[in-house]
Amino acid sequence: MKTIRNKTADVQADKNGFFGAYGGAYVPDALKKELDKVYEEYLRLKKDPAFRAELSLLQRTYQGRPTPLYYCKKLSEEVGGADIYLKREDLNHTGAHKINHCIGEVLLAKHMGKDTVIGETGAGQHGLALATACALLGLKCRIFMGEVDVKKQYINVRKMRLLGAEVVCVQRGGKTLKDAVDAAFEDYLATYDHALYCIGSVVGPHPYPTMVRDFQSVVGKEAHAQFKRLKGSLPDAVVACVGGGSNAMGIFAGFLKDASVRLYGVEPMGRGENIGDNAASITFGKPAVLHGFKSLVLEDEKGEPAEAYSIASGLDYPSVGPEHAYLRDIGRVNYVTVTDAEALDAFRRLSVAEGIIPALESSHAVAYAFKLAKELGRGKSIVVNLSGRGDKDVDFVLDKYPEMAQMQQ
Ligand SMILES: *Cc1c(COP(=O)(O)O)cnc(C)c1O
Repeated sequence: MKTIRNKTADVQADKNGFFGAYGGAYVPDALKKELDKVYEEYLRLKKDPAFRAELSLLQRTYQGRPTPLYYCKKLSEEVGGADIYLKREDLNHTGAHKINHCIGEVLLAKHMGKDTVIGETGAGQHGLALATACALLGLKCRIFMGEVDVKKQYINVRKMRLLGAEVVCVQRGGKTLKDAVDAAFEDYLATYDHALYCIGSVVGPHPYPTMVRDFQSVVGKEAHAQFKRLKGSLPDAVVACVGGGSNAMGIFAGFLKDASVRLYGVEPMGRGENIGDNAASITFGKPAVLHGFKSLVLEDEKGEPAEAYSIASGLDYPSVGPEHAYLRDIGRVNYVTVTDAEALDAFRRLSVAEGIIPALESSHAVAYAFKLAKELGRGKSIVVNLSGRGDKDVDFVLDKYPEMAQMQQ
């Protein structure tokens, strides 16, 4: 279980897909064989100039890459302290970073000769991005979604269906994301001869954490080059929210080798520290296997995976990508927490100060940047990964907190 570091000090999983003590592929043998094939094909395509050119063209002409790096002058002055920059992943087509790995994964499926893509979704954001990539590239798309989420996120179900995807309503267990993942894996086990499962974050069995990170790393590469061009140096800190951990791994990947850049992963503390009130898997989790990989998992009193909670539904997963657990262990990334209330405050302040409505998920990263800006002080700089836009959250926030619309600065 040795983890190899290449010469740039980027972290690479060992040949069994372990990052230190975390990762691996805890799946039936037949699926393990198929996943090995997927990884082999991925490694081949990763080096293929034609595949890279195809992906890069779609990123530029369809997705809207490169996304801007924006200096929040007003907000930085208001907060008082370090300068705050935003990597504008909210400006991607479909409004969040998830399209980065969805186009990559669906392109991989197409090159492998698959005609169908399978996915799971909780809040609907991954399902929507995957359905979009499938419409673009002409593959069939089947999305598993718990019944509770189908009811809660009905507009996303309608959008997925409009895009031509089949949405399967999952009736088992708690009828949420965890059950949707189980159902999607079962479907994959029966259909892998012509289908590829495209997972929604840097989670799941090897090689998903590696592939999804690589497809997301475009965020960090761009941010690194953009900041350097703008300021002639590197930022002092990079901040991102952590659900499964894909947007965070994407931006961190660009800075891991720069020892001077402090990295912060922000977990949702929700309503508080009790199990069931948050989704801070790194902060409170214990090593365990869930959904085919070993990582830190939130457990209830019986040792079962706990229900995770956050005001941001894209963050309420009871585990986290294995590479994050490893980066915590070696001390390269600091993992911190932000409550629902702090995220809501950041949601409002960024909207008012800069005219940018952030996703509630991304608002967690913004909220932590406020604290860090004061701590680091003037002359320092922070880059925040603004993983998505908040249009999807406006009704929910204003229905629940009507006073927010009338608040003055
Ligand atoms: C899904 C989502 C997240 C959380 O997923 P990660 O894999 O942790 O990045 C964060 N922000 C937005 C906008 C999302 O849609």
